[in-house]
Amino acid sequence: MHNLNYVKTNKNIITNGKSEYKILISESLKNDSYICFALSDLREKIEEATGCLLDVVYDSEKQLNGKYLVIGETRLASIEDLGAQKETLKKGGYVIVTKGENVFMCGANTESSMYAVMTFLKITLNFEQYFTNHYSLNKGVDILPLYDFNVIDIPDFEYRIQSAGWIRYNDENRKRMKWTNETDWIIPVDEQKAVWHNTFNYLPPALYKDEHPDWYSLPNGDQICYTAHGNDKERAKMIKIVADRIITLFKMEKYRNYRHISVSIQDNQNCCRCETCLKAKQKYGADSAVMIMFLNDVAREVESWMKTPDGEPYKRDFRILFFAYHATNQPPTVFNEQSGEFEPSAPEVVCHPNVAVYFAETNGDYTSNFHDKNTANTKIGENMLGWGKLSQEIYFWSYSTNFSHHLIPYNSFDTVQDILKFAKAQKCKFIMIQDQWIQPGGQTGFSVYKNWLHSKLEWDVNVDIESLKDRFFDNYFMQASATMKKLFEEWNEWAKWQKVLGYEGARSVYYWALRHDMWPREKLEQWINYTEQAKKEIEVNKQTDPALYERLLNHIGMEAIAFKYLLIRLYADVLTADELLEMKKSVKADILRSGITLVNTTKQTTTEELLSGWGV
Ligand SMILES: [Zn+2]
Repeated sequence: MHNLNYVKTNKNIITNGKSEYKILISESLKNDSYICFALSDLREKIEEATGCLLDVVYDSEKQLNGKYLVIGETRLASIEDLGAQKETLKKGGYVIVTKGENVFMCGANTESSMYAVMTFLKITLNFEQYFTNHYSLNKGVDILPLYDFNVIDIPDFEYRIQSAGWIRYNDENRKRMKWTNETDWIIPVDEQKAVWHNTFNYLPPALYKDEHPDWYSLPNGDQICYTAHGNDKERAKMIKIVADRIITLFKMEKYRNYRHISVSIQDNQNCCRCETCLKAKQKYGADSAVMIMFLNDVAREVESWMKTPDGEPYKRDFRILFFAYHATNQPPTVFNEQSGEFEPSAPEVVCHPNVAVYFAETNGDYTSNFHDKNTANTKIGENMLGWGKLSQEIYFWSYSTNFSHHLIPYNSFDTVQDILKFAKAQKCKFIMIQDQWIQPGGQTGFSVYKNWLHSKLEWDVNVDIESLKDRFFDNYFMQASATMKKLFEEWNEWAKWQKVLGYEGARSVYYWALRHDMWPREKLEQWINYTEQAKKEIEVNKQTDPALYERLLNHIGMEAIAFKYLLIRLYADVLTADELLEMKKSVKADILRSGITLVNTTKQTTTEELLSGWGV
């Protein structure tokens, strides 16, 4: 639901730097990190735009009869008083409502109340974050009118996890772009970082394998065997250990507010090939069936404990997540030709309400849609349709970069909207599109635009990408917008041909894209020329706003890195020694300015190593 209704009234919040308004927050929330962030942005951006710094008051004051901009729930109004229900708003939804002359910006929690403030600032003053330290904001505003707001805005995905380092490591980028806080939602099994691929954390082979060989997969022992090779007593012991560990973690004070934990396969393409597991695969149609039944039993144990006097105080609406990944990506479903839909292959493989699938497939192709036939994703799309019939919720881990080549563009621009619409239709509530999340400063390959776009699409899968593209380029490249858009569009058009040449298909996120036919020299040189032209176009800021000039120089330089890197890697032998040295020096300047530190994820090669290898 995205109802952004508002009309101007004939009243004003600020007139020529003067205001009768104050910002009101709850005394009990004055140390909350989201409320503090929202408060400081609201005050500072209004002051920067209008020259008027609003006072702050708390709802503990006896008399509350002034005019207020209200952040979050206060004594003046709960979320229900504002006509919304917490259950409907869920984790990320919020309202902006004008009552009398007060404006209420409020969500079901403080994080979403902060989102409401960001939207208020966007509507009234065009405040929007594009990249680190770079936002749009109207300046020299004499009149800030009072709007009659009737906004209710609920994101399409309840959890939107940031996936690029420049967002993940930057609190302002994360909060202003409305990404969900990553760190407070899933319990690491080892209380440190074993969030994923953690079955061996529950059942370490070093501890159990000698005494309980049946717990481990055949033939390699690199996964657990969810049937204990058909030995029910042994299987019951495994379930008890896993459930007990979950119970122990749920009892810990530090995890009191957590609802999610995972029991997810080890990171390889295998699963157990024992006789019992193979028979189950035959019966249910997929390797994942035995895993679901195992986790359903674990969930029942935890659920029963929550009904005991010992467990009652720790009761919560928990989820045990498991990976549909490689061997377990296929669900135990059958296709019903008559209804045209997938159905569970048996009632016992439907997930318990506290068990949910985490759909992740690096074997997918994120340069192709999920809806299309005859692509590397057709089967994966069908698998997600099947999981939609087994699991009440879907958690989806998608991908959008080339992990072998961080400095080479990966074209997921043409498909991401289709993939997210597909996931949304399968009741997906959680989305994480993995990008260069260990690359802290920035990214080349139009990835700043890409991840900014993801923040919009994950909020509303139906947004108009063309208008967002214009908005991004105009605000991020400013005077160089048209030139940089030409560069983006020429590359994007060429990337469609690169698919024909082979830059697509299963595991395209690891594709070896250093090929002459994919990157002709004349194209690379033309695109580098566009960035040189763009750098000239922003020179007008050099005197008037040197800090802005430096930011824009970085934005353009970051995009130049990809094409200069490709030119050096592919055409070193045909460039003259002087040309080559010039190009290396020039890409070095762009890289150092950008803070890009990694050349790939696969080998963790640093840009420092790259540059010193080039002798610059
Ligand atoms: Zn087995």
